Amino acid sequence: MTSSEAAPATPTKGLVLVVEDDAAIRDLLRRNLRAAGYGVQGCGDGTEALDAVARLAPVAVILDIGLPGMDGIEVCRRLRSSGDWTPVLFVTARDDEVDRIVGLELGADDYVTKPFSPRELVARLGGVLRRTRGTAAPAPAQLSVGRVVIDPGERRAYADGRPVNLTTTEFDLLAHLMRNQRRVFSREQLLSEVWGYSGDVETRTVDVHIAQIRGKLGQASPIRTVRGVGYSADPAERTE
Ligand code: CA
Repeated sequence: MTSSEAAPATPTKGLVLVVEDDAAIRDLLRRNLRAAGYGVQGCGDGTEALDAVARLAPVAVILDIGLPGMDGIEVCRRLRSSGDWTPVLFVTARDDEVDRIVGLELGADDYVTKPFSPRELVARLGGVLRRTRGTAAPAPAQLSVGRVVIDPGERRAYADGRPVNLTTTEFDLLAHLMRNQRRVFSREQLLSEVWGYSGDVETRTVDVHIAQIRGKLGQASPIRTVRGVGYSADPAERTE
């Protein structure tokens, strides 16, 4: 047993707060994040988490949703309503939690679903920090992937600077892909995460909407078809 815990070495990538009541998972994350060059503080409940964010000003919070007492969603809601936009990477155990995160538009920057590999989580955290770097102020105003820019607050989309009229669902679908750029979603995932459907729903619905979005964005469309898997938004995508 070492007590590496006690000596906060100078972290090169900043301090990450891990909020997780399961001590084994917290330790696993701690080890992996340290190995990846982050400083780490951990806590096991929501009230402590709010204190710790205020006190430590971490570069990001890894926030388990299933916490005793105040759950992770409530922690995030309180942070945002106090004007704190520290990037949050949610850890969820269930699909319905994913729906709640997406639906509430809490300014959650990403999420991983249990069981996850620590390596995946560290990679996601790196992505969150790259995307949110320099956006200390409220509301990630605009989001761009390649030649397409969206403004989630005003629900507007632009392709090469030209305003594009999207339906509500088209906008939500495009925004979901763009918020998670380069991540490949299956049709089933998109139906569940954008439409909120589960079970036997016609996955062709997704293809139809993707086709409509592409039609409207034209050559600027960042949506990539990943054959046999689904779709992603990719800044490198040039055509179709
Ligand atoms: Ca938990």
